[in-house]
Amino acid sequence: MSRYVPPPPAPESALRALEDKLGTALPPLLKSRYASSNGGTFDDPRNRDREWQLHPVFDASDRKQMKRTAEDIAHYTRLALQDKRFPRNGISIAHNFSLYEQLFVKRDEASGVIGEEIFLFDVHTGQWCARYAADLPAAIAQARVPEAVQPDPARALPQFRYYADPFEAGVLRTSGETCECCGKATGYIYGGSFYAVGDESHFCPWCIANGAAAKKFDGEFNDAAGIGCAGTEEVALPPSVIAEVSQRTPSFFSYQQERWWAHCNDAGRFLGEIEHVDRALIASEAGNDFTSDTREAAHVGSDADWQWLLATPSRQRGIAVFVFGCLHCGKLGGYVDHS
Ligand SMILES: [Zn+2]
Ligand SMILES: [Zn+2]
Ligand SMILES: [Zn+2]
Repeated sequence: MSRYVPPPPAPESALRALEDKLGTALPPLLKSRYASSNGGTFDDPRNRDREWQLHPVFDASDRKQMKRTAEDIAHYTRLALQDKRFPRNGISIAHNFSLYEQLFVKRDEASGVIGEEIFLFDVHTGQWCARYAADLPAAIAQARVPEAVQPDPARALPQFRYYADPFEAGVLRTSGETCECCGKATGYIYGGSFYAVGDESHFCPWCIANGAAAKKFDGEFNDAAGIGCAGTEEVALPPSVIAEVSQRTPSFFSYQQERWWAHCNDAGRFLGEIEHVDRALIASEAGNDFTSDTREAAHVGSDADWQWLLATPSRQRGIAVFVFGCLHCGKLGGYVDHS
């Protein structure tokens, strides 16, 4: 499984240099984030189309870090200020991949103090708002994996029969967060959907795989009613299969209620969004029906458009294509999800 490796900490000297330049202290949240990892990405807790790139603090301690951090907070803030609508007292701290959206903090005009509240600036509309103030600090903080909670290398991650790689899909990630089911910080946390009466949804992979979380909170990761309902034919499945997918298998990020493709009297294995699936597999005979169904559903006319769809991250195209593989005959299936 591919795992995200966060950048190294920003040295104290780099943090001090930035604070000297700003003439004031960084907000504690940001400072501690940089002190554990200087830059890198963090997930938006609300929208899978957003992954934020935290602007690093310029680090002159060695050539490699110098090069990596050359485009730092100051650089992005200068760029942002070129837009007259960006608040004059704003300090740009993160952007999404397109740079169309930025997160920033604000310096109080009178005191010069930088507040901890996080705002969103939208380059298209020129508007900004505080709607991220409540949950993004939590997301930034969660992206840190403290020394004390590094994943135990001796403990093998659970394998999910119906899910190829939840880390690649992003529903599982490394994190210092505590599992809301077993109460342990395992170094990994789940951030996908969980349908239950309560609010708990952040679980470790083990509490998902062994059914403990679903049982304890009486919930489902995947809606049982949608299992077997994806693609052109509906498949009636044994209750044991539905239970495993709904209660012991991570979900995936989708716009609409997720559905689970099935074949050969079994649920399919979730392989990911189309851009992450092996192109040769999609082009093979096993992928023929899937390809023609998907081209039709996504209104893809030309081969060039198809190649574009295969190569473009879903967050850039407003539709997602989910791919599953049959565990018995190898056939591919799935469906198109519109935003
Ligand atoms: Zn747990
Ligand atoms: Zn998208
Ligand atoms: Zn099959």
